[in-house]
Amino acid sequence: MAISCFQNLLEIQSHLKVVATHLTNIKSEEKRETQLSNLIQQKTLALEEAQKESTKVKKEMAALELTLAQKDQQKAQATSALKQAMNQSQMVSAQKQIDQCESVLDEIQENLFALLEKDEGLASQISELESFLKGVVETRQELLQEINQTIEAEQKQIAIFEERISNLLELCEKDARVQFLKACEKHRYQNPLTFLENRSCRFCKMAPESSFAQGLERGDLYQLCDGCNRLFTPQSALS
Ligand SMILES: [Zn+2]
Repeated sequence: MAISCFQNLLEIQSHLKVVATHLTNIKSEEKRETQLSNLIQQKTLALEEAQKESTKVKKEMAALELTLAQKDQQKAQATSALKQAMNQSQMVSAQKQIDQCESVLDEIQENLFALLEKDEGLASQISELESFLKGVVETRQELLQEINQTIEAEQKQIAIFEERISNLLELCEKDARVQFLKACEKHRYQNPLTFLENRSCRFCKMAPESSFAQGLERGDLYQLCDGCNRLFTPQSALS
């Protein structure tokens, strides 16, 4: 009777390992969802940044275009002044103004070109991000559905094993049940049961009194290991 109780506990332990696997599967499914949410958040932020930057670049371009028009006008005025120049000094002064305007105009053109390139880059970045975010809504929906189905299936499996576990526990003597549940507090999914190996606990190597081994094999001792709090199980329960 007592040995069969340990056999039940061993079966429970193996069921608990199955439950642990299902719990790990659920965690990894939940992680997939988190990863996708993080990615969406990251891309949304990148889109906002690119849009802000593009607005800034467009403003800079508009300001430069205004300066460009002003300088063009100044140059035209200087050119007409050159044509109407009455003497050498007026010619030199007009020509100097034209040269200055041209140099500034070159600089503005260069800056405008650089900003235009930057804005084109931003526009393609924005369009890529927008189409990613548009597409991901559907993907996310599908993924969430898939994840929920998987989690549901895993939970069903867990429920089946939990029921088996609880039925098996019912079959155990009260002492065995109490001690086993104590061992489970710390080691529910990591071997709540231990054995003697060379007279010591196979997990933590702590050795109980020498008389303990005989009592344990009789099958009516329910004792936790002082070292790791696992429940000692007789070798005979294994066969
Ligand atoms: Zn131990």
